[in-house]
Amino acid sequence: MTSILEKKCIERGLRMTDQRRIIAKVLSDANDHPDAEEVYARATAIDPKISLATVYRTVRLFDEAGIIETHDFRDGRARYELAEGEHHDHLIDVQTGDVIEFVDEEIERLQEKIAEKLGYELVDHRMELYGRKKK
Ligand SMILES: [Zn+2]
Repeated sequence: MTSILEKKCIERGLRMTDQRRIIAKVLSDANDHPDAEEVYARATAIDPKISLATVYRTVRLFDEAGIIETHDFRDGRARYELAEGEHHDHLIDVQTGDVIEFVDEEIERLQEKIAEKLGYELVDHRMELYGRKKK
């Protein structure tokens, strides 16, 4: 089975090795925002010969090709997710590190308004909220 990410890689002319294919599948299947260590753990469950260095090299390659997004949620670990898919923002639980995805139309509109006011057409944005769960 060709994963979503593998298809993107092929479209962009990236040479696909078996190991890259596995890493692409791991990222395609992820519903969370895994870091390299987590991608490595999932990839080696499929092929124990994959090294952490290969994971780092491969995610960098995918990121440079624009097929995954790299996030920095301030815990010192880069996290990855597919670049395609519905736009969403993130709320990070500062106590548990949980990442909650959300979309808020009001925020989307407000951001466009701000860009407009500054004489810009908004092409992209990133927003992260950091919160502590209320008791
Ligand atoms: Zn996300």
